[in-house]
Amino acid sequence: MNAQTSALLDAITVTPERGRPMPDAATGEVMGYAPVHTVADLEDAIARARSAQTGWAARTHAERSEILRRAAEEVESHAEELARIIAQEQGKPLNGAGARFEAGGCAVWIRNAADTTLEPELLFEAEGSRSELHYMPLGVVAAISPWNWPALIAIWQIAPALRMGNAVVAKPSEYTPLSVLAVIELMNRHLPEDVLIGISGDREVGATLSAHPDVDKVMFTGSTRTGREIVKSSAANLARLTLELGGNDPGIVLPGADVEALAEKLFWGAFINTGQTCAALKRLYVHDSLYEDVVAALARIAEAMPLGAGLSEESVLGPLSTPQQFEIVRDLVDDARVHGARVVTGGEAAPELGPHFYRPTIVADIEDGVRLVDEEQFGPVLPVIRYSDVEDAIERANASDQALGASVWGDTKVALRVAERIVGGTVWINQHGTLNPLVPFGGVKGSGYGLEFGAHGLKAVAAPKVITV
Ligand code: NAD
Repeated sequence: MNAQTSALLDAITVTPERGRPMPDAATGEVMGYAPVHTVADLEDAIARARSAQTGWAARTHAERSEILRRAAEEVESHAEELARIIAQEQGKPLNGAGARFEAGGCAVWIRNAADTTLEPELLFEAEGSRSELHYMPLGVVAAISPWNWPALIAIWQIAPALRMGNAVVAKPSEYTPLSVLAVIELMNRHLPEDVLIGISGDREVGATLSAHPDVDKVMFTGSTRTGREIVKSSAANLARLTLELGGNDPGIVLPGADVEALAEKLFWGAFINTGQTCAALKRLYVHDSLYEDVVAALARIAEAMPLGAGLSEESVLGPLSTPQQFEIVRDLVDDARVHGARVVTGGEAAPELGPHFYRPTIVADIEDGVRLVDEEQFGPVLPVIRYSDVEDAIERANASDQALGASVWGDTKVALRVAERIVGGTVWINQHGTLNPLVPFGGVKGSGYGLEFGAHGLKAVAAPKVITV
């Protein structure tokens, strides 16, 4: 099947006169036209969502869950079409932890939101008095998402919000609207009219949505900078916020770790989605005794990884999604070079593959204080930093303004003690970035606040209410 002939793409793409051309991330060729929604369209969407929400909230959890299960089945039965849209628009390859994985994940997370139970909690019971905590819908939820895992991250926001009886206005990234509109189109084949509305607009539309007086909650995933803007605008509408922001996840390889056994997992911890993942390993601290072995093993794996277009069955790494991200990555590696770092492999574009391909890159002999270590690279580059004292590595890992995920590699008992001292939303041991729809996920410090997934995620899109008898 070719994405250009997909019925799903045809259902969401508009005519060239009415739409914005969306480039294939690998080739730059137009793959479809995204609708251009304005602030006026947004106003209309919020009003429609507001009026549809009352009926949706009046249904039981069981009814809403049943509809969401049907939506999950719909996504599953069109997963290949959805995956091909994602692979083209965002650029991640179909295979590996790529576009098919993302499309399948959408169905998994929708089903999970449907199946997770959230019973009233007994708070107090004595002497004829009983207090219970119930969760009621908030109203209209704004779901504002980024371009890196476009469909999956939008679903993380949309599915729990719907399950709890909210209506949702979803604003995808201006770089990946088609992936999100496609999954919304599939869900809307089963949802009542207007409880889920996709608005494909630019940053101004996003800002208007988050500041809107008729929005009760903003689920935001994106950069720390935009997160701060949303906090400011929430002073006016008092919208509750879940902020999943940027990360600069550290990993610490302990002395005695089995390098050969761990190398592949280390690599994918950093290079999943060609490094364009919030909770990817972004700076790796390796004990002196293993330093050269780890650097060599990572370089070997990086050199063997097929890089290519999203739609190619052979690729496991793809292009940078946007020209801007390509420039950020190139600039950070060039800056590291100027500061004396050693580029062990990669360190250059791959123009023969397309305009925004960058070879998987391992950078050694680099220290904190260099931008590639201190800033989020969000691309296929891993700086590897040498340490000799574990205390020092913990201190450096914790020094960042961001604290989303982290990982510790080596003997599990020792790693657990180190993990307890790391500041972050999640600390993985001998793995990095694995997510589970039942296990809450979120950040601290500049990586934001609030939790997604499981019962914690349902509570985040609901208002607690105490009933005392
Ligand atoms: P971004 O902040 O530029 O944009 C995210 C979304 O916000 C887009 O839809 C955009 O149109 C919208 N937006 C822009 N300005 C806005 C405003 N003033 N008010 C409301 N909405 C506005 O982020 P990006 O470049 O799309 O995404 C990359 C970033 O996202 C990285 O930093 C990455 O680490 C982070 N991210 C975090 C997580 C997480 O779970 N913590 C997951 C994925 C990505």
